[in-house]
Amino acid sequence: MEMLKNQTEKKNFINEDERRARLDKKNERARAKRRTETEEEKRKRLEKRNEKDRARRREESTQDKKIRLGKRKLISSEESPQKRVTRLEDKSALQRKHIQNETAVQRVSRLAYVSTLQKKRREAESSEERAVRLEHDNTFKKKQLESESTEQRTARLEHIRKIQKKRLDTESAEQRAARLEHVNALQKNWLDTESAEQRAARLEHLNALQKKRLERESSEERALRLQQMRVFQQKREAVQNKVQSDDDSTAPLLQQTFARTRMMKFHEELSSIDFNICSVCLETFSGAKMTKSTICQRCCRDKKDPKLYSTNNNMDPGKVPIELQVSTQ
Ligand SMILES: [Zn+2]
Repeated sequence: MEMLKNQTEKKNFINEDERRARLDKKNERARAKRRTETEEEKRKRLEKRNEKDRARRREESTQDKKIRLGKRKLISSEESPQKRVTRLEDKSALQRKHIQNETAVQRVSRLAYVSTLQKKRREAESSEERAVRLEHDNTFKKKQLESESTEQRTARLEHIRKIQKKRLDTESAEQRAARLEHVNALQKNWLDTESAEQRAARLEHLNALQKKRLERESSEERALRLQQMRVFQQKREAVQNKVQSDDDSTAPLLQQTFARTRMMKFHEELSSIDFNICSVCLETFSGAKMTKSTICQRCCRDKKDPKLYSTNNNMDPGKVPIELQVSTQ
């Protein structure tokens, strides 16, 4: 009996030795192959390996996962802080390199994988874990915003604008209506339920935010902001006028809504037309009526000297008299 046990142990030992030797050989072969592989082969190999890893993780049981994470924890608890920093830096450098070199298909697949992972993780988290995560995210974002350079900030804002624009450009009328309704409901609910202190805090926060924004904005950003404000103001006035005067037929004509909107439209259209002044008759025409760049068709056809409507023929009435200069809209 004792002998049998010894024999089994010996056999196991030999098997273990053989196994090690076999694995070493296999690893050596793989290393040799890796030394001579091209970039393309390497990329394919890593991609295959990652896909395998992902598949394994998707399938793994809770028990297996616990073991895997436990191993990882053990490794990380044994390493020095310095080593840890180096390892994490190396890892993120590698990741960055990989992301820079990935194809569009790889990118889509990676993002899909990350978002399913994230979704899974969030579905499983408790409300406390969620609070901690959000707190952590906020601190991280705050830190990042505080340390970003002007170029980084511009790039970030540009990126956000692009994404927003793309989203707005591609949304359907129903999606738009749903979005606005959702935002309004959220806002209304929030405003309805906030206390006096919350309100004061909100307004103070907004003021501080605006102040900061104004201090940092470039002249282009300023111009854009003012332009947006003007458009917004016009829209608001239009809405107010409509609300105030559903029946304003007894008001003076120039204060009635329909007259004001039409006048506004007229001026808008007017300002979108290019005008040219004929250098002979000094009349103003829209671009299409001009033959050469500076003379109108009528003056062009007029071959007499002096031309009929020219200054030389005493046809220029001069400046508009002061009494007539008061213009009305
Ligand atoms: Zn003319």
